[in-house]
Amino acid sequence: MTENLLQFIWQHRLYASKEPLKTAEGETLLVLHPGTLNTHAGPDFLEARIILNSTLWAGNIEVHVKSSDWILHQHQKDANYDRLILHVVYLHDATISTSQGTVFSTIELKSYVEESLFERYRQLMESNRFIPCDSRIATVSTLTVQMQLERMLAERLEEKTGRIIELLNLKKNNWHEVFYIQLARAFGLHINQDAFERVALQTPLHLFEKYKNQQPIIEALLFGQAGFLSDYFDEPYPDVLHSEYQYLKKLYALEPISVHLWKFLRLRPANFPTIRLAQFAQLIVQSTHLFSKILNAQSLSELEDLFDVEVSGFWLNHYTFRDESAQKKKHLGKSFIHTLISNAVVPSLFIYGKLQGQNHLCESAIYFLQQLPAETNQIIRKWESKMGVAKNAADTQARLQLYKKYCLPKKCLSCGIGYEILKRGDKK
Ligand code: SF4
Repeated sequence: MTENLLQFIWQHRLYASKEPLKTAEGETLLVLHPGTLNTHAGPDFLEARIILNSTLWAGNIEVHVKSSDWILHQHQKDANYDRLILHVVYLHDATISTSQGTVFSTIELKSYVEESLFERYRQLMESNRFIPCDSRIATVSTLTVQMQLERMLAERLEEKTGRIIELLNLKKNNWHEVFYIQLARAFGLHINQDAFERVALQTPLHLFEKYKNQQPIIEALLFGQAGFLSDYFDEPYPDVLHSEYQYLKKLYALEPISVHLWKFLRLRPANFPTIRLAQFAQLIVQSTHLFSKILNAQSLSELEDLFDVEVSGFWLNHYTFRDESAQKKKHLGKSFIHTLISNAVVPSLFIYGKLQGQNHLCESAIYFLQQLPAETNQIIRKWESKMGVAKNAADTQARLQLYKKYCLPKKCLSCGIGYEILKRGDKK
C-alpha cells in the first residue's frame, strides 16, 4: 500500500460501498465530493464535501497509509492542517489532533477495499514487461485508449511549447523572431540543435531581413556567426564570405559561436551542419514573412512547398568549405521537411493559436500532425502489438508521450488506461 494508491482509491471512490461507510468514531459517512487532489504543499484534497451522521462538512482531507503518519509528518504542529474535516487512512493505529488540539474523524479504508485491487496494482508495479499493463491493455475499451492518447498528444504539444514561451519573453513577443529561432533549432536535429539555436539567438532576424536579396551576405552572416569563417580560404567564394563577415561583424558588433560546437561525427555528408546551414540560408533568401505564410497555410502540401529549397551554387559541389566533391543537388528532402513541420511549425502554430485565442490554429496544428506519416522507432514498433499500426505522426507522438512519461515511470495511477484496469474488477 502506498499513499498515492490510497489517494487514487479515495479520489475515484474505489472502496466497496454496499454498506454506508463508518468512521473510526462510529459516525456514518456519506461522501458528496472527495475533494480536488492538491499537487502542492498542504492537505491532499481540497474543498471536499461530506456528511457525517446528518451534518454537512466542507473542507480539506488528508490521506495517510497509517494514522500515525500524521505525527511522523509533523502535521500536529502545522496550522495548514487545522481546517481538516476528515483523515482518510488505510490503517487506523493512532489518535491524532490538529495544532489547535482539535480531534477530527478518521475513516479506515482497510475493510472497504477489495484485495484484488491491490493485487492488480502490485502486478502493474512489479511488471518488467514493455509496459506494466502489457497483459491487460487488450481488455481496455477502445474509447479509453483513444481518450488517453488524445490527452497525451495535447500534453506533448504543451511540453514542446515551453521553450517557445521562454523565447517569447526573451524576444518581447516578436513571433517572427521566435519562429526563426525555433526553426533554426529544428534544422539542427538532435545533434546540432543547440549550436543552431545559439547562432539564431546571436544573429538578429532584422539583419537577414535587411540583406534579404543578397544571398552571399546572408551566407556570410550565417556561416560567420556559426564560427566557420574565422580563417582565410584558398577558394574565392569562401574567401569573399570571410571578408564580408569580417566587415559585418565589426559593423554590427556580432559575436560568433565557437566552431567546435558543431558535430560532424557519424553524420552522412548530406546532414553535415554546413549543408544544413546552406539550406537554412537559402530558406531565408527565398521566403518573405515565413511565419505569416505558415499561419495562413491550409494544407500540408502548402507547408511543404514553403520549405522546398536548394543550396546555392558553391554547395552543389561541396559538403564543407575546404573539400570539393562531386556535383550533387542538395535540396531539403521530404522527410527532413516533415521533421521541420513536426518540431517547429506544429508547436509554434499550436501555442500561437492558444495564446492569441485562435482555436482554429490549434486545430490546424493537430491536423497537420495527422497528415504527417507515422514515425518509426523501436518504441513505436513495440506499441504495434498493443494498439495496432500507428496511422500518422499524431498517433506516434501520443504513443511516445504515453510510454516515456507514464509507462516507463509507472505512473499508471495517472493514466486513464490504468484507471480502467484498477477500477473494474479482476477481468483479465
Ligand atoms: S501508464 Fe497506462 S498505458 Fe502505461 S503501463 Fe500504466 S496503465 Fe498501461
